[in-house]
Amino acid sequence: MPIIAVCPGSFDPPTEGHINIIERGLKLFDKVIVAVAVNSAKKNVFSAPERMDLLKELLKNKKNVEVDTFEDRLLVDYVRSKGARVILRGLRTIQDYEYEFQMALANKSLAPEIETVFMMTESQYSHLSSSLIREILALGGPAAGMIHPTVEKKIREKLKRR
Ligand code: ADP
Repeated sequence: MPIIAVCPGSFDPPTEGHINIIERGLKLFDKVIVAVAVNSAKKNVFSAPERMDLLKELLKNKKNVEVDTFEDRLLVDYVRSKGARVILRGLRTIQDYEYEFQMALANKSLAPEIETVFMMTESQYSHLSSSLIREILALGGPAAGMIHPTVEKKIREKLKRR
C-alpha cells in the first residue's frame, strides 16, 4: 500500500521552510498532499485559491505531490478521506513543539490509525515563518532566501494595493 502523507498548513504565504519540509517528505512517502487550511477566523493575505496556485507553481516540477484545500472539518477526517495515514508537520521552536504535541495527541485520540510525523527544520529555515515574512515585507525589507521570487512579487503587489 502506498504511504500518503498530508502536509496541512496555512501557507500564507508559502515559505522556503514549507517547501523544504514538503520536498523532504517526498523522499520518505509515496505521495504528499499539501492541504491549505481555510480558516474563516484568520485574516489571511492570500485567499485559499491564491495560496493553492502559489504552491502549485512552486512545486510544479515535483512528482507525487498534490495541492488541495480543506475547510470546516476535522483534519483527521480529511486525512482519512484522502486515503492517507500520515500527517506531516515541521518543527522549529519549543513553541512549535508545545502546540504540535497537543495537536498530535488530540489527533491520535480521534484517529489512532493516523501517525503524525515531525520533521525538524533545517538550520537555514529555523527562523522563517509566514507571519515574520509578512511583517518584513510590510515594512519594506528584503525577503531573499525566505520566499520564492514569485511569491515575493505577488505579496508585494498585494501590500501595495492595501
Ligand atoms: P499552521 O497555521 O497550521 O501552523 P503554517 O503554514 O504556519 O500553518 O505551517 C505549516 C507547517 O509547516 C507547520 O507544521 C509548521 O511547523 C511548518 N513550518 C512552517 N515554517 C517552517 C520552517 N521554516 N521550517 C520547518 N517547518 C516549518
